[in-house]
Amino acid sequence: MLSAPAPDSLTHIMSSELSAEQPSAALTPAQIASLQQQAVTVAHHAYAPYSNFRVGAALLLTDGTIVTGCNVENASYRLTTCAEQTAITSAVALRGPGIRIRAIAVANLNQTASQPCGACRQTIHEFSTPDTIVYFPAEGGSIAQATMAELLPAAFLLNE
Ligand SMILES: [Zn+2]
Repeated sequence: MLSAPAPDSLTHIMSSELSAEQPSAALTPAQIASLQQQAVTVAHHAYAPYSNFRVGAALLLTDGTIVTGCNVENASYRLTTCAEQTAITSAVALRGPGIRIRAIAVANLNQTASQPCGACRQTIHEFSTPDTIVYFPAEGGSIAQATMAELLPAAFLLNE
């Protein structure tokens, strides 16, 4: 069911709004709101006939690119893919293996507080720095934020 227009999977923040030279600099409230809105918009595309929990994620890459994704469920349940993971898969397909994530906004259409799941934290970690910021729905309809260092302090690392 679509109740909102689809965002382009690939959009850019105006260069005047975002400096790629400061990948760890805090986002402005307007940038956060824009990223959050894109996460909400893409959540309308979620395929979630089993849980009806519709989630969207919007990645801001360090080059200023924004890439979105939504959750895609499966009748087997265990093959369900989270919004964060579909966004990251799309980002790699669009920009290649060198992508780095500056910030992520996660939203759902269920007015529910929710943080990225454990699997998503590990997936985000693969393309993040400890300073990468994740925005997610908190209690009472507010937006919480945490760095990847806070969300996954003991990430799995290969060969380190
Ligand atoms: Zn997840």
